[in-house]
Amino acid sequence: MRKLHEADRIALIRSLDLLSLAGHPELDRIVALAAFAFRVKTVLISLVDEVDQHFLSCVGTELRGTSREISVCTHAIEQDDIYEVPDLTADPLFSRNPLVMQAPRMRFYAGAPLVLGDGYKVGTICLIDYAPRRLDEAEREQLRSFANLVVGQISLLRSMGRRDPVTGLANRQQLAWDLREALRQSPPAVPVPSHLCIIDVLDVTSAHRLTQALGVAPVESIVRQLGFRLTDALGETARVYHVGVTRFAFVLAGRSRDEVAAILADLRERLSAPVVSSGLTLQTVFHAGVAGFSTHDSADVLRRAVTAMHAALESGAPWCEYDRDRDARLQRHYRLATQVERALDTREFSLVYQPRLSLSTGRLGSVEALLRWRHPEYGDIAPDEFIPVIEGTTLMPLVTRWVLRQALHQLLAWEEQGVVLDISVNLSSADFRDGRLPAYIADLARELGIEPARLELEVTEGEWLRDKGSVAAQLGALQAQGFNVAIDDFGAGYSNFSYLNELPATTIKIDRGLLVGIETSERRARLIRTVLKLSVELGYRTVAEGVETAGQLAMLCEWQCDEAQGYHVSRPLAPEALIALIRQHDSAASGSPLTGAETGHLATVGQAGSL
Ligand code: C2E
Ligand code: CA
Ligand code: CA
Repeated sequence: MRKLHEADRIALIRSLDLLSLAGHPELDRIVALAAFAFRVKTVLISLVDEVDQHFLSCVGTELRGTSREISVCTHAIEQDDIYEVPDLTADPLFSRNPLVMQAPRMRFYAGAPLVLGDGYKVGTICLIDYAPRRLDEAEREQLRSFANLVVGQISLLRSMGRRDPVTGLANRQQLAWDLREALRQSPPAVPVPSHLCIIDVLDVTSAHRLTQALGVAPVESIVRQLGFRLTDALGETARVYHVGVTRFAFVLAGRSRDEVAAILADLRERLSAPVVSSGLTLQTVFHAGVAGFSTHDSADVLRRAVTAMHAALESGAPWCEYDRDRDARLQRHYRLATQVERALDTREFSLVYQPRLSLSTGRLGSVEALLRWRHPEYGDIAPDEFIPVIEGTTLMPLVTRWVLRQALHQLLAWEEQGVVLDISVNLSSADFRDGRLPAYIADLARELGIEPARLELEVTEGEWLRDKGSVAAQLGALQAQGFNVAIDDFGAGYSNFSYLNELPATTIKIDRGLLVGIETSERRARLIRTVLKLSVELGYRTVAEGVETAGQLAMLCEWQCDEAQGYHVSRPLAPEALIALIRQHDSAASGSPLTGAETGHLATVGQAGSL
């Protein structure tokens, strides 16, 4: 038997969480049976831990453990066989032991070591009596059998909850345990480079649909078949774990990346045949996540493999390797999501304002409020990154309300400085969930004494506008109270005019993507001209976004677009810079329609102090 280091023995006790078995009825039954069979007063199942021994089960004592210093079992686990002391008072090692000299005044001890795994002696089952005694050979054999019984029971209790009831395969808990075991058993000097692979084999949406229609049994049957197919395909190569309803995992040890890729390609091939259950034929899917690790560092590997599998799911790829950058991004987003409320409190959010140029009057009559987040750790974060993160939480309405209030207060502040502007604010689909937004906006405008017509609410063009009747109703309510509603990013996705008719909107903001190349491509120019013409015919006000050149601006003027917004006019600006720009523009343009020279001038002004 291997002579094992004490630290390894302790690690095994901890990793198996053996202490949690204390007082288990199965162990109590064995102890009671032993007391009866040997006619002794006290029987213990003792776990010899680092500094104490703990009694997992006992009869005939009130104690639940003792320090290891005075424990007899600590000597018993040094032996390969039964350790027997017929009279403890006569043994120089124990005659002065407090358990012998004082209550309970032990006299007789016989303990059999409990040998687990690779020869680790974790404790004993021991017989204690209060008069001298000696076991005969038959009794010694019987005590060995009791030790085997305890070991069997411990192994059984430890393996419970480590199998998936549907497939009978080892489950996620077993995988986590095996990963820890691999760490414990691998020699310190040579970590084995390994790969953990997690595979999703069934499309969750179709699985849910099937469950709704036919109950869980057919889905379970399909998953069972796929688990079997996978086990069969991997054979001796790796043990298969069933780690999620439609997910399996396995570890490839000591393989190169190319070998891993070859194994996955082969599995994909083998798993791709359709599965049949309840007369239905279902197509399987194959999306795998792969995370490299060494047996010395497997702490985070399960999470990393799952992350990689989600990357495969999102991109539709058959498999993805764990990507540190993507992971860092996810972690950052998670952190941002938890810090939104703090950011609102600590004024990390601010608004910048991008002017909109009226092409009929040449005035900068309105601005769009754009949110900025100056994070204490990450610095300035772009709204394209943090708005989707906030949308994923329940906090979007809170942020939007902050933006609305801030923007309208800013209007009043500018007014006090003699500049009167209109303003537009971006709303997100999440703002419409509770249906309370229109009332909030109306109350706010009333409270601050701001004419509804001066506020425009921008909603991004997309499916969600069409999906929910309640969104249209809320936009209608806003419009009925005199607020303007703009469809943002029009032309960025699959826009279509037919649904626009059903939406209460006053303005169409043409996405900057539609402006790209209009100066050089006749086709592109014709496209935006058509969009503008149609919008006008349907009665919308039109705003072109992302105007970056004088040429674009001139074309938009010619095609009777109502307003232009973009870097050529001005970048988004802080409130003070914005008011300076407006004043300068008003004195230069003095209200006349734009000329080419003036648009050139605008660009220079806008870039000064731009953000
Ligand atoms: P958006 O509503 O389409 O805003 C216009 C974006 O285009 C702004 O980016 C603006 O800085 C940028 N832009 C303006 N002119 C030009 C140009 O000439 N060229 C180019 N390349 N870009 C130009 P920003 O401020 O980074 O905002 C990005 C998006 O974040 C916004 O797109 C909007 O969807 C969202 N967002 C910003 N603030 C808020 C907010 O308060 N609430 C909500 N729900 N979304 C916001
Ligand atoms: Ca916008
Ligand atoms: Ca836009």
